[in-house]
Amino acid sequence: MRAEAPITLTRLCSERKLLGLGRRGGPGLMFTPVRFPYKPRPHQIEVAEAIAKELRRGNVILEAPTGFGKTSVVIYALIPFLRRGVKVVWAVRTGSETDRPVEEFKVFRERVGLELLAMSFRGKRDMCLLAKEFGEPLDYLEVSYICSRQRSRCPYYRRLRRGVDVELLLERGPLTYGEVFEAAAEMRVCPYFLQRELLRRADVVSLSYNYVVNPSLGWSLRSIFPFHRSILVVDEAHNLQGLNLGGDTITEGTLRRARAEAAELGDGEVESLVEHVERKAVEMFASLGEDDAEAFEPEELLPPSPELLLEEALRAGQAIREARFREGRRPRSSLYHFARFFGRALALSGVRGVALIAEKLGGRLHLSIWDMRAAEAFSEVWSSFKRVILMSGTLSPVEAFAETVGLSSYYSISVPSPYGRENAAVYLVRDLTTRGEELSEEMARRYVDAIARLLSRVERNAAVFTASYRVQEGLLRAGLRDAAEALGYEVFLERRGMSGLEAAEMLRAFKSLAGEGRGLLVGPMGGRFAEGADYPGEELMCVFLAGIPFEKPTAKTRLYVEYYQELYGEEKGRLYAYIYPALRRASQALGRALRSPSDKAVIVLGDYRYRSYMDLLPDYVRRLVEPVSHSDLNEVALPWESG
Ligand code: SF4
Repeated sequence: MRAEAPITLTRLCSERKLLGLGRRGGPGLMFTPVRFPYKPRPHQIEVAEAIAKELRRGNVILEAPTGFGKTSVVIYALIPFLRRGVKVVWAVRTGSETDRPVEEFKVFRERVGLELLAMSFRGKRDMCLLAKEFGEPLDYLEVSYICSRQRSRCPYYRRLRRGVDVELLLERGPLTYGEVFEAAAEMRVCPYFLQRELLRRADVVSLSYNYVVNPSLGWSLRSIFPFHRSILVVDEAHNLQGLNLGGDTITEGTLRRARAEAAELGDGEVESLVEHVERKAVEMFASLGEDDAEAFEPEELLPPSPELLLEEALRAGQAIREARFREGRRPRSSLYHFARFFGRALALSGVRGVALIAEKLGGRLHLSIWDMRAAEAFSEVWSSFKRVILMSGTLSPVEAFAETVGLSSYYSISVPSPYGRENAAVYLVRDLTTRGEELSEEMARRYVDAIARLLSRVERNAAVFTASYRVQEGLLRAGLRDAAEALGYEVFLERRGMSGLEAAEMLRAFKSLAGEGRGLLVGPMGGRFAEGADYPGEELMCVFLAGIPFEKPTAKTRLYVEYYQELYGEEKGRLYAYIYPALRRASQALGRALRSPSDKAVIVLGDYRYRSYMDLLPDYVRRLVEPVSHSDLNEVALPWESG
């Protein structure tokens, strides 16, 4: 048996605020009279106690491996504070994940009688009953538009204002999104405003990052759920650095539709404005290759003094939305989007940390406002809460992570992973790499040979996570699909622009093959399948990383690195902007196969350069890794056969 590694506690604290727990001394072993609702795994109680103790003095960064049970441990640590009236804001990456902590609070209620109101909070896009009557999913802007126009006449809103009895609902305890929505739909009242009413009584709210880091979204919540009296928990906090808060994107399709709308309105001046931009965009970016990016200034695409024309285009776009809405159609307008995009682009032109980027993705030109300043804005966000807990499985090196998200005062708690040889066989392939501008045909064929050897050995559900879509396409051209199918595998490919529903359906089909062990999932690191998705037990037993997911050295990457170098200096800037994010994506991807101490997996680092970045990979990878040649992969050890 491997000796258990200790948790590491690093103290980096300069300021102190006292929480409700106050000066009552350390929490000790009996820091809360509520039992932990599960049979505790190694370190769980120890970490919960450490969090509770450190929270009394400052913020906490928790790095713990997948399968550790971070959510239940953090809830357990928060109980003494909740009991004393401190509230909790639990921020998750996307709205669809808000129920996860709420479900965990339900377990605490059912198993150990913790009586608290924890609830999911979702935006109008998910909650508006009137929008659902359109029969097709509307986007956030469309639903906001409908509500701003209709609220005073909305029957669901009016019924809610006349008053509803929410006591029965509150008696249920923690409330998921679905429970609030269904209860509201049954009473025929607005779910969105009902949840706002419930929020006044809640102890814990689970919501997407946006409500916390975007002041324009957060302000309306603060009046009913006081952030300054709350502890903020940020789940999967490694995502914070990449948030593009003020971003927006239009495509060549947006331009085409905007021109058609202007023509239909008979507004010649606005039509010429859009035409001008379209023509300039084609001229400037004609030579842009797939996945390439180039920076531009809005003035390069717009005619001189475009402000008045853009205002006119915005008004025309608003009129189109209005007319469509009155006809019972979706209140959308590409002209409106076009005018808003360029209005903002002009306003942000020259602002440090904001770039305008043209990219060719999936054969289409995309123009984006790329706001890299999120990390700069965070320190203000953190100080608006009583305390902050940032947690994830992939935050190393923690000091760098803290610096990039503007947290200067914190205690860091690092939990070792529980995985040993009984769980994982880890290999570093010394004769494979995606290094260089293009993946050569010879190297792509070698990758396919390596993967085929591995699949022929493992005969279990497996994933190939690639450094990028380009590498993925290179492997497919070199015959990856045929090679896998010849071995009896069914191949599931992540595609660009895949809808959430399509991806969920594909994952379901892949997972359904777990028993037979003949599914092969292929997708880029950082994509839907390599991050966020869970594959417990036999659903995924082998992960092959094809390359290291460094950003392609485009103008976009260069701007990002330069911006970070301005903020943190030359060396740190490159590490923070380029190296660490890539290795975090790789760590996320390889961690998909090990979700609990009973999981078993073969993990292959398919790029010799990983050898130079071992310190940035999970501890079990460093402990267990063995170098091999690609031709040895048909002889890898299978942890599930070693008993
Ligand atoms: S009040 Fe509620 S149901 Fe009515 S339009 Fe607004 S969000 Fe939709």
